[in-house]
Formats: sequence, structure tokens, C-alpha cells
Amino acid sequence: MSSSENPICPLYIDGKWITPAHKLSSPVFNPSRGSVIARVPMCGPAEVDLAVASASAAFPAWRDTPPNERAQVLFRLKILLEESFEELCLGIATEHGKTLSEARGDLRRGIEVVEYACGAPSLLMGESLENIARGIDCHTDRHPLGVVAGICPFNFPALVPMWMWPIAIACGNTFILKPSEKVPLTMQRIVVLLEKAGLPPGVMNIVHGGRECVDAILEHPDVKAISFVGSTPVARAIHRKGVLHGKRVQAAGGAKNFIILMPDADVDRTVEAVKDGAFGCAGERCMAGSTAVAVGEAGVRLLPALADLVKAMKVGPTDVRDPQPDMGAVISADHRARVAGLIAAGEHAGAKVLADGRATEVAEAPAGFFLGPTLIDHVSESNPLMETEVFGPVLAVMRAKTLDEAIASANRQAFGNGAAIFTNSGKAAREFRRRVSAGMVGINVGVPAPLAYFPFSGWNDSFFGDLHIQGKEGVEFYTQRKTTTTRWFGFGDGEIWAK
Ligand code: NAD
Repeated sequence: MSSSENPICPLYIDGKWITPAHKLSSPVFNPSRGSVIARVPMCGPAEVDLAVASASAAFPAWRDTPPNERAQVLFRLKILLEESFEELCLGIATEHGKTLSEARGDLRRGIEVVEYACGAPSLLMGESLENIARGIDCHTDRHPLGVVAGICPFNFPALVPMWMWPIAIACGNTFILKPSEKVPLTMQRIVVLLEKAGLPPGVMNIVHGGRECVDAILEHPDVKAISFVGSTPVARAIHRKGVLHGKRVQAAGGAKNFIILMPDADVDRTVEAVKDGAFGCAGERCMAGSTAVAVGEAGVRLLPALADLVKAMKVGPTDVRDPQPDMGAVISADHRARVAGLIAAGEHAGAKVLADGRATEVAEAPAGFFLGPTLIDHVSESNPLMETEVFGPVLAVMRAKTLDEAIASANRQAFGNGAAIFTNSGKAAREFRRRVSAGMVGINVGVPAPLAYFPFSGWNDSFFGDLHIQGKEGVEFYTQRKTTTTRWFGFGDGEIWAK
């Protein structure tokens, strides 16, 4: 790897780090400082061909490696990840802008997927039934698909890629990862550990770039499956194109997660959870609770306390161990401008800004991409803030007279990732859980993101495909079944055979 001031991120192909020559490159920022820390080469079909050739060559031996031996690599990786945990987290905070404690959550959840994938021998077990007809047995077992690829967003530099490749390689596939061009460094560091853990060359490969690189992966005939996580327009397009090219595709998209606040909710714990859900990771979470619907008196009971909490949040750089702020920067200057523009449009359309993050200045890091937490009340369904995923530190508050009205508002928007209710009424919670059109529901839990052994089960425009990421659905996605029906016609000749 180059050690110049702004190193070019190398590709990782066939166990070697390769710096492609003559490539356009895109800057990787430290959002806390607004400074460039690396550059990403924008690869195309030539580099993707190399990666696919490497993964294809590695596949037969990796497929034939017993699942428990494949799992041993992941057990060793888990130990290496724990040893490097704090250093990796500081790297995540530096390239992403999230706080160290959020970075710890990012990597911890990723390690949990590695732990889940260590169960490969159990996860890959088949099923059998003896005597499906007289003298005939049937069994079904799981086989890897071959070369599979993962295309990732910027917001979880560790977790989202780790939703994919630990399970894929535990199942016997070989992998091509295209990290987000905005946060490529974390996976680069983790792949160094994967190599140390004994992963054979070619089983894991990294390519970098944007659309051209993704298109080359989607069009390559030897890539069997694509896992994608990113915004909805891209997820939808990737699902279509991947399927058109004969691939299995799981594509997770964007979100607008509704949080219903009932008048009987516990005030202190609810406002704390709502604040964390909306402003954790500066709102750059597909499970961010970005829209609160205050039902009846809930607005009067909860909003003043929530506004106080939001105004007290400290915003600042996250690339130093101490002191850490409550919230870091957003990913880029462009993104900050986009989010600020949406707040302005929301205000212009009649909503009332209760806490305004647009004027936030951070003296110790004046060039950072900071936008403070913003709370904006009386947002109507037709407000521009409701038309799109904001993906920033903005909590829009709507008002509803009844639970029915609140659920109807939640169900009218196009996404369906998460939804939560805060209440002390079991009946209200049950109604909400049954009727809300979202795949991940929280009851007095603001960010109901499932852990590794459950599927990340978005609905509607938040997911395109059939099998979700992680858990048993992840294993299902990365394997195909073979069902064998067996009959033996009689014994051999001679006395040794029982009759
Ligand atoms: P993005 O869609 O801009 O990019 C995601 C990936 O797609 C990147 O690797 C990028 O290089 C590639 N890409 C971008 N445009 C492309 C195009 N036209 N053709 C092919 N590839 C393209 O998303 P982002 O800004 O990096 O991430 C934020 C988004 O990800 C948000 O919408 C967020 O909700 C979503 N997200 C969803 C989940 C989920 O589980 N549903 C999880 C995390 C993030």
C-alpha cells in the first residue's frame, strides 16, 4: 500500500494488493476535518474481470473445504477483530464522522455476524426423510452458488459489508466486495486480518469505484448473486438489472421510519430513545427514526423535553479518542448542503423549527461537515421533508388525533424499513405491530435493527428481492439446494450380505 499523503486505496485480488495505474480517483474525506485522507480508484470492467477470475479460480477448493474448516478461519478472524477493535473503531470514526461509541456499535454488530457465520456446520445442515416410498430415501443439502458480490453504502463501513461476506464465505462462496467509495478504508483493514486468519487467496476480493464498476459486476456472467445495500433508486435499478442478467439479487434501499408517540408513553425514556433514534450516526442510518407522529396530547407531554435534549447535544470531531461529542459530522459538504436545503424547504412549507442545526459551528474543527441536530414540528404529509429520505440529523414531527390516523400516515409513505411505537398500552402496541406496513417494528425501542441471527427484513420500497440479508435468510440466499432421491436395488451375491 502506498504511504504517500493521500494514498490510493489498492484493490485486493487473488491475495495481492494491487494499485491500478491510470485510473480516475475519487477523494475519501475525514468528515470531521473536511480533509482528504485517501483516494479511491474508479475501476471498471478490466479490474472486475480480474477479480472475478481470481474468485472463480479459488471457488472449487473453497467449496470443497469442509464447513468446519471454513468456520475456523472466521473463529480466528473474530479473535483478530477483538484485538484490533479500538483501532478499527477509531478508523471508522475518522473516515465516516460518526462518534467512537457509534463506531463501536458498527463493528460490534459486524463481529456478531462473523460469530453467527462460525456456525456454518450447523447452518448448512440439510434435511432428510427415509422411506418416502418403499426402499427410497430423500435428502436435501445446501451448496454454495459460486462467485458472489456485495455492493455497499457509506453509512456503516464495517457492519454492512459484514452483513454479507462472512455468511457468503462460510457457505463456501467466493466474494467480490465493492465498498462505498466514501468509506473504503475500514474493509481494507479488516481484509488484512482476514488474510492473517488464513483465508486462501481469491476467496475474498475488493474492487473500488462507482457506477461503472457496479455495472461491470452486474453484467459479468460468472457472478451468481449480488447483495446490495444503498438508496432506493439504486437498489431498485440494481435489482432489475441483476435479475435481467440472471443473478440472484437482494437489494436493500432507503427508508423513512415512523415513530408513533402515544400520550401514555413514559416521558423520560421515550424522549431519550427518540433522540438517539433520530440523531444517532447523525441520522445517517437506514433505521433512523426520522419522523415522529405525536398522537393527541403526546406533543404537549413529550416535545418540550425532547427539544431540551436536542438543544443540549454537543456536535464535534470524532477522530480523537477524547473528548468525544454526542454527534459527529455528516458524510460530505454536498450532503450537508442537501439536508440544509430540505430543512429550509420544510420550514418554507409551514413547519416550525424547534431546534435548528444549520447554524452549528464547531470551533475546533471549522472545516468539518457539521450540521447540528434539527427538530422541526408541525410537518404535514405534503411537506417536502416527507417526500424523500433526508438521511441527516433531522427529526420531523407530525401531529395526529388518533392511533389510526398515525398508522395511516406511516403506511402512506413508500418505504417500509422500520417503525416504532412508544406507549404503555399493550393493545395499542399490538394494533400497531399488526397493521404498520414495515418489516422491522419496535415497541418502546427506537431503532429496532435486528441482530445477526434475524433477517434485516425491510418491506415496500426499502427492499427488492425475496431473501433478506443476514440470519437464516442470508444462508438461504447464499446457497442453493440439491435434493437427492436414492434407491438401492438389492444386495450383492454371496453369503456376507444379509437378506
Ligand atoms: P448509494 O445508493 O448512493 O450508494 C450505494 C452503493 O451504490 C455505493 O457503493 C455506490 O458506489 C453505488 N452506486 C451509487 N450510484 C450508483 C448507480 N447509479 N449505479 C450503480 N451503483 C451505484 O447510497 P449511499 O449514499 O452510499 O448510502 C445511503 C443509503 O443507503 C440510504 O438511502 C440508506 O437508507 C441506505 N441504506 C439502507 C440500508 C438497509 O438495510 N435498507 C442499510 C444501510 C443504508
